[in-house]
Amino acid sequence: MTREFEGKVVIVTGAGSGIGEACAKQLAEAGAKVVAADMNLDGAERVVADIQAKGGEALPYKIDVSDPAAVGAMVAYAVTTYGKLDGAVNNAGIGGPLKPIADYEIDEWKHVIDVDLHSVFYCMKYEIQAMLKNGGGSIVNMSSILGTNGFAGAPAYVASKHALVGMTKNAGIEYSAHGVRVNAVGPAFIKTPLIDNALDDATQEFLVTKHPIGRLGRPEEVANLVLFLLSDKASFITGSYHLVDGAYAAQ
Ligand code: ADP
Repeated sequence: MTREFEGKVVIVTGAGSGIGEACAKQLAEAGAKVVAADMNLDGAERVVADIQAKGGEALPYKIDVSDPAAVGAMVAYAVTTYGKLDGAVNNAGIGGPLKPIADYEIDEWKHVIDVDLHSVFYCMKYEIQAMLKNGGGSIVNMSSILGTNGFAGAPAYVASKHALVGMTKNAGIEYSAHGVRVNAVGPAFIKTPLIDNALDDATQEFLVTKHPIGRLGRPEEVANLVLFLLSDKASFITGSYHLVDGAYAAQ
């Protein structure tokens, strides 16, 4: 891998497992200084230890991304520790309970929207402020294939991931002339702890059939796209939504 992120400072939320872990590791391998932020500090520390063992630069940071003050403090930590902020992967999230709208409790709905949607607004607000001070930057918001498609039993997750696509478009319009690019990534079903914990084997086998490529995705395959969008190679790409989905949405 080339060191194309040498000297860059990047925050990855949800870096303690799955897609965020793969993003943090690939970014560090490519030379970035990574703030590996997660509610699960053990997970973030494990990822950072792996990165450091390979000679990379990263620090763990405990965060609940649904707390706006904590998000502001996380961005301030990156800037005071590493001097600036160049990139961010707003990836932390939860699937939420699996049940249809009429059965969804109000508090369950609010919690998923807080963690999956409001958090990304908080992150972008503070990240963009820091990036503007530094002459620009690049942000990737982790949406989902469920940013365009519905999925029975996941109304709050689907609503959040659709909203992230809209918010990404707006950020692209608002900041493209100011050097900050913002994109959303839409992975189909990726084999991560989120999927393994939420869905039994039969459901996972059913999900495989929804992907014409014949398998679920791998976290590394999402991270490949994230790194491209964060990099200067994507200098004309902003305000848009990019699938990594094994042809799921093509059907
Ligand atoms: P995926 O990689 O598919 O998104 P995972 O469940 O493997 O799914 O990863 C999501 C990550 O987000 C986990 O490491 C989890 O601890 C983290 N996370 C979940 N909720 C929060 C939160 N409120 N604040 C910070 N991190 C969170």
